[in-house]
Formats: sequence, structure tokens, C-alpha cells
Amino acid sequence: MDDCVFCRIVRGEIPSTRVWEDDLTVAFMDIGSVNPGHLLVATKAHAENLYGLDDGTAAAVMRSVARVGRAVQSALSPDGLSLYQANGAAAGQTVFHFHVHVLPRWKGDAMDLVWPVRNPGRQELEETAARIRAAL
Ligand code: 5GP
Ligand code: ZN
Repeated sequence: MDDCVFCRIVRGEIPSTRVWEDDLTVAFMDIGSVNPGHLLVATKAHAENLYGLDDGTAAAVMRSVARVGRAVQSALSPDGLSLYQANGAAAGQTVFHFHVHVLPRWKGDAMDLVWPVRNPGRQELEETAARIRAAL
């Protein structure tokens, strides 16, 4: 992906502030950081989103997320830590190269996520679960 911004970061063609890398992933500061310590863990190989990850890469991503998350907690002592990961424009994805946000949180920060609870009935839960199980 010649013009993908995160592929260009992986290749070192544009600058980034890296904190961690292994064979399959790289972690760097988010240029649009919401809070201090806001990092992105991205795959080194281009995958547009979650659906393009093989099992080994998916495992490596979570291993790196946990590792940098522990480091953020140790270094910055935030009140909390949120993980965000968007797939598709409808989910808020703006860079179409797989990445996970590691976002330190402090009480009273302006970060907000609207979570409109709907409490569907058991039957709807069962029907939806059956469709997902059939796809596994
Ligand atoms: P998304 O909305 O796709 O989940 O998040 C994309 C993130 O990538 C945004 O938070 C944005 O600030 C970050 N970002 C976009 N371009 C660059 C860049 O060139 N360098 C870095 N370090 N982060 C970037
Ligand atoms: Zn890419």
C-alpha cells in the first residue's frame, strides 16, 4: 500500500514517535492524542481492518497492546485505560490500516463515548447469537 499513512510510518518514510515494535506490530504516539500517552498499536503488514488479520497477527496485536498498556500504567499512572478499535467508517475508522488505540484516562477528562443501552429481550439475544455461531 504505497500511499497508506501507517504503511509509510512502518517503512520509516514519514516520522513517528515509536515506543515499541516486534516482528508483527509497532506502537507509536497518536499525532492527534486525546490524552498524554495516547498510543496506537498497528500491524506492520497492511490490513485494512480486523477482518484481514490472521490468527498469529491478531494474537501479536493483543500481546503488544497489553505490553504497552502496562508500560503506560507504570509510567503515567492514569486513573484508567481505554482500548478503542474501529472497523469501517460507520464505526469511526479514519485510517484504513488496522490499529488499536491505547488511551490513558483521567477522571474528568473530556473523552466521551455514547452508549445507548437498549436491553433487548432474551429471544432477540438468542436469535442474534445463533446467527453469529453459525458464522464461526
Ligand atoms: P481511527 O479513527 O482510524 O481509529 O484513528 C486514526 C488515528 O490515527 C487518529 O487518532 C489520528 O490522530 C491518527 N493519525 C492519523 N495520521 C497519523 C500520522 O500521520 N501519524 C500518527 N502518529 N498518527 C496519525
Ligand atoms: Zn497500510
